[in-house]
Amino acid sequence: MKKLLILSCVIPVCLAAGAQVKQKISAAIAKVEPKCIAWREQLHQNPELGNREFKTAKLVADQLRSFGIEVKEGVAKTGVVGILKGDKPGPCIALRADMDGLPVTETVDLPYASTIKTTYNGQEVGVMHACGHDTHVAMLLSVAEVLSSIKKDLKGTVKFIFQPAEEGPPAGEEGGAKLMVDEGVMENPKVDVVFGLHIEAAIEEGTIEWKSGSFMAAADFFTIKVKGKPSHGSQPWLGIDPISASAQIINGLQTIVSRESELTKAPVVITVGKIQGGVRNNIISDNVEMLGTIRTLDSEMQKKVHERFRHVIKSIGDASGVTTEVQIDTRTLVTYNDPKLVEKMLPSLRNAIGAANVKEREWVTGAEDFSYYGTKAPSFFLYLGGMPKGKDPKTAPPHHTAEFFVTNSAMKTGVQALCQLVTDYAEMK
Ligand SMILES: [Zn+2]
Ligand SMILES: [Zn+2]
Repeated sequence: MKKLLILSCVIPVCLAAGAQVKQKISAAIAKVEPKCIAWREQLHQNPELGNREFKTAKLVADQLRSFGIEVKEGVAKTGVVGILKGDKPGPCIALRADMDGLPVTETVDLPYASTIKTTYNGQEVGVMHACGHDTHVAMLLSVAEVLSSIKKDLKGTVKFIFQPAEEGPPAGEEGGAKLMVDEGVMENPKVDVVFGLHIEAAIEEGTIEWKSGSFMAAADFFTIKVKGKPSHGSQPWLGIDPISASAQIINGLQTIVSRESELTKAPVVITVGKIQGGVRNNIISDNVEMLGTIRTLDSEMQKKVHERFRHVIKSIGDASGVTTEVQIDTRTLVTYNDPKLVEKMLPSLRNAIGAANVKEREWVTGAEDFSYYGTKAPSFFLYLGGMPKGKDPKTAPPHHTAEFFVTNSAMKTGVQALCQLVTDYAEMK
């Protein structure tokens, strides 16, 4: 009886305290929004390519320090990790933002459009945040400021991961999420759970899209070398034509998708994106090189596709008399949203931004190196809408193009969602 009395006193006090913290967070989010926009515009105007995010990393480190957060710099080249220890015990929750821009010359008419130029693979190029990573950095800095303002009430530790080179490091360099994981970003303190999001140009602002289980594809890049025997173009019987063999190989590879892969289980994509061989109309070339990508959403299917890929190329090559060489490099793993974690966190997302704005979606055959964090702790990666309200998604310029655009006002939804995920996960643990 006595126990019951005590409980009945304590619970309302707890609830009131919890509601107070939530109020503090809402006020801090509203306060940080203009800063979030200013950071985003500054970053958008000063984009840097992968493994070259020097100014970006400095801005991030300076800001994190100004919030009283412990900072590690130079992680996986230019990466920055902030560690915020709450005054109350609890789990270690990691949040990730990628920082790199792309070799694209911006054509969007914005006061903060990029005019930055640099050299990439020996070529003069424009640099642009054409995938929205500027918004990711601005949002994560905002979350860091908000959560550091409630440090006294914060349970556990939040690890802010600012990652370089998500789009892939320059040729001959290592980088990105894999290197951050290899350098121990998921340890000391050990991360219990990791959340991340990507802003999307064809999803309306104010909304979040999610999928449980396999979400984004594993991306493999391949090179196929086909070697024949040169001859005069009028006398192909005196040579071995690698171009006609390559045509058969391309068709053969597509049958792995259409005839062999269990497409009701998960999608498979094989794309030959580049083919090069020959010099003029009347010479049978001595070789062909093909570059492309394989996308899978199930690691068993990925293994099978790799096996069949090598077999089909070798068999067609043997039948045609050419010699073949295949190299497959795995760039990212399947981005896997832990189903139990998703189920646990969906109510938080709905609370943060309204149930009608949280939508389930299908697979994505695009890839994310966020997948590497998921090998060390349960992970949940979301899509955040960045398209102006009322616009037709079909008319939204795609990511990685000169016209790519996402709004400033979209970021508030991302900040709200991440803050809620952190505070609710810490409460549940
Ligand atoms: Zn991208
Ligand atoms: Zn991206």
